[in-house]
Amino acid sequence: MMEKVKTIAVDGPSASGKSTVSKGVAKALGFIYVDSGALYRGVTWNAIRKGVDLRDDAAVAASMHGAAWDFFVQDGAAAFSVDGAVPVQELREKEVREAVAGVAAMPEVRRFVVENLQALAHFGSLVMEGRDIGTVVFPDSPCKFYLDADPEERAMRRYRELVAAGEDEKAHEVMDSLKRRDTIDTTRKTDPLKVADDAQVIDSTSMTLEEVIKKIVDAVTE
Ligand code: C5P
Repeated sequence: MMEKVKTIAVDGPSASGKSTVSKGVAKALGFIYVDSGALYRGVTWNAIRKGVDLRDDAAVAASMHGAAWDFFVQDGAAAFSVDGAVPVQELREKEVREAVAGVAAMPEVRRFVVENLQALAHFGSLVMEGRDIGTVVFPDSPCKFYLDADPEERAMRRYRELVAAGEDEKAHEVMDSLKRRDTIDTTRKTDPLKVADDAQVIDSTSMTLEEVIKKIVDAVTE
């Protein structure tokens, strides 16, 4: 199957282990890792930075189209700059985290992000993680995976990540925030999170992420 593979799609809800797994698969196969959520976060960060009202679709779209975006590959991963700045830590800040699902529900934002994600295929073979990679961005990919885990397990993973990053968070607030994002992501009109018909579903609740990486690498290389 390997010679046909140009893109591997890894979709699933927040904190299902997509990032760790996608990075591991990309490293094992020598593919470029792409975090599609980072671009939705980048659009959100750019709008916040410019003082845009995030409830105003047209204003968010105008700030997005008015910025200069540049895409490149660094250390095996796709990255981007906005007006010359390369936001990384900024994309993880609470303000962005709380607003991104609302911004990502805007059709104009999705069109812009999807086009730019598709263009990344020029850089080479990709492992792309997201919510709509197998359904919308690369629907023809022969390798689609949908990662899931129980909401409690996902909330605990995210809570441990945030605490490790030095954030002062309460477990029940992380659970509430995750549920809020799940609801927005699965119920939005444009490209909601759903399992592609031809995706392999992997429930990682009782698996280690190393086991999930191996399962995907084996499936792709068989
Ligand atoms: O993956 P991450 O949590 O960084 O994504 C942030 C947000 O971006 C998600 O909650 C979702 O609203 C949106 N997103 C999306 N489609 C993708 C990737 C992310 O709608 N392919």
